[in-house]
Amino acid sequence: MVRTRFAPSPTGSMHIGNLRTAFYAYALAKHEKGDFILRIEDTDKKREVLGGVDDIKDLLGIFGIEWDEFYLQSERLSVYKKFAEKLVADGHAFYCRCEAKNAKEDGFSTSLRDVCRDKGLKSGAIKLRVPDNEEIKFTDFVLRDEIIWHSPVVFDATLLKSDGFPTYHLAVVVDDHEMKISHVLRGHDWLPSTPIHLLLYKYFGFEIPEIGHLTDILDPEGGKLSKRKGSTSVRGLLGEGYLPEALFNFVILSGWAPKDNRELFNLSEFVKAFDSDGFQKSNPVFNREKLDWFNGQYIRQMSDEDLNSKFQSQSPQFTKLDQSDQLSITKLIKDRVKKTSDINEFAKFFWEAPVVDKNLFSEKYTEHLEVAQDTILAIEQWNNETINEQLLKSVKDNGFKTGDFFMTLRIAITGQKFTPPINDSIIILGQEETLTRLQKAFSS
Ligand code: GLU
Repeated sequence: MVRTRFAPSPTGSMHIGNLRTAFYAYALAKHEKGDFILRIEDTDKKREVLGGVDDIKDLLGIFGIEWDEFYLQSERLSVYKKFAEKLVADGHAFYCRCEAKNAKEDGFSTSLRDVCRDKGLKSGAIKLRVPDNEEIKFTDFVLRDEIIWHSPVVFDATLLKSDGFPTYHLAVVVDDHEMKISHVLRGHDWLPSTPIHLLLYKYFGFEIPEIGHLTDILDPEGGKLSKRKGSTSVRGLLGEGYLPEALFNFVILSGWAPKDNRELFNLSEFVKAFDSDGFQKSNPVFNREKLDWFNGQYIRQMSDEDLNSKFQSQSPQFTKLDQSDQLSITKLIKDRVKKTSDINEFAKFFWEAPVVDKNLFSEKYTEHLEVAQDTILAIEQWNNETINEQLLKSVKDNGFKTGDFFMTLRIAITGQKFTPPINDSIIILGQEETLTRLQKAFSS
């Protein structure tokens, strides 16, 4: 039975790298009709944020990820304590009173052997007694490579703190065993912890699961993708107007590739196609253009009504417009937007008259504006066909260049050179507002 887990710590907004781990772990289990477990690693109470657990659950829900079992490590403290004490009894761990001075905090630079290891203390924190000269190795199922450490480079890690809380190392090993996890998938930054875990598996007599470390997602500017370099939080990206479907599709293809060149996957298609041979060994780069492309694909697939309500959630001004105007605008810009937040930029001129920069106009703009005003004023049937017909007639009668004339109109009405089709926009704005804007552009 394949059983995987996603084991986030509720320490703040989820990063897309974590989300990717969840997607892969889910697909790995579900492809084999196995179980996916959500385990909250909340043993570091100092770093926990309020509402963090609900936020994780909520985010997974947004992407349609359901878990078969749910655990909170903070509810399992007695289990870890029992295991830690057994290790002391077996001689593989020792009590220590200088918990704060951990070799890890010294950045591995000083001696990795703890000063308390041979003092025979009877209480305090519990630390792992790392063997002196041993080879510790395993084969990573993502990297498809054997990784070897020599025990002198592994530090005497704290397993149980003196307050009774386990550290990550102890809790993760005990839980992965007790929860019968067959495949452990985690980010690359956890790799240095693995030799500690391998020793624990051995000392506890646990079977070692398959362990795989995922590649890092890189920043296009170099280095690892990080918060400092822009939005990498899942909430942030959703807030920017990326659809969950697009984000999902983008994220799963950042580190995994199908056998064919297929690009569009929803969750169930991904589960069906999943194969751990598809994990790529080289670090993917966070390619925002690609994300925009995916988002565009999914926006085009949405119904106008659904897209309209996404636009509403991005823009209070848009929401205030007349219902049928909203829908007309949605249809008008559906093919052009990359993100749902683009509504604020693409449609702003519908609720706010522009400040027109005269420098944008071509030479003949005053003539254009005059003719446009007269033509629009004379239109009796306010519909696309008539507007088109009448404006084109005026262009012809006055010997204007069509493109040039409509550019003047576009700039006068919207303040910009690139906008949705201008005649359709004019219909939505209405005859009166169109005339007002033409007049304003004239006298600006
Ligand atoms: N709690 C760790 C995290 O936040 C889990 C690492 C693991 O999956 O072993 O990523």
